[in-house]
Amino acid sequence: MITKYAYPSTGRKLSFHRLSIKAYTLEDGYKHKGRRKRLVEDLRQKGISNPAVLAALMDVPRHFFFPTDFEDEAYEDKAFPIESGQTISQPFTVAFQTQLLDVKRGDKVLEVGTGSGYQGAILSAMGAELYTIERMDELFRKAVQRFKRFGYKAHCFLGDGSQGLPQHAPFDHIIVTAAATELAENLKHQLTEGGNLVIPVGDRHIQKMVLITRLVENKYQRSEHGEFKFVPLVGKHGWKS
Ligand code: SAM
Repeated sequence: MITKYAYPSTGRKLSFHRLSIKAYTLEDGYKHKGRRKRLVEDLRQKGISNPAVLAALMDVPRHFFFPTDFEDEAYEDKAFPIESGQTISQPFTVAFQTQLLDVKRGDKVLEVGTGSGYQGAILSAMGAELYTIERMDELFRKAVQRFKRFGYKAHCFLGDGSQGLPQHAPFDHIIVTAAATELAENLKHQLTEGGNLVIPVGDRHIQKMVLITRLVENKYQRSEHGEFKFVPLVGKHGWKS
């Protein structure tokens, strides 16, 4: 069984505390586009087939979410460390979760775990109305800046996303980008009928990618889609720390 990482497998620690948003580039030249094209082709070969997902991956410059000094790493199919000890998920993981979510233009989507903002930018580029929630203040502030600076529309929230966003529910789809301990019942109740919840569920070491579809009011369908490794979902309906 292959394990796809949402956090870096290298164990490398990087210091971000001196980096400001100015350390991030806005240039998207032929070199970046060429590398992005190769990455998208690689993801296609690994089984990502939804044209809208592939187009968004081609559209969104992943290096915009990396410090300039590390932008060469943006087009490798690897997770990468970001501020507050968190990660930007591996491109395959982003593509895989987005494909399972089956987002259509205009869908209202909740992302739990904003992180760098890259996954949110992909959803926004696909035409979703994005609601995204992050528990770490530093990440939240930087993601808000990035969305604004790079022109992605998003409703951003700071708080415990393990509880969802009941005041803004229902959502057409919900994507959780951190490892849950259990299948969050509260989240599935925030779906519209026909809506999908994509959530990695397991222990701290390994999680199964679970897809829950709300068929009708009280009827849900569940399927599992391989093993992944995410940073923990910390909160009321997740890990304690
Ligand atoms: N989607 C992100 C991206 O594209 O960069 C990557 C997400 S990272 C793998 C997981 C994120 O979930 C971290 O930023 C972490 O702080 C956040 N997180 C963990 N528990 C959370 C919670 N209860 N509510 C909101 N965010 C949470």
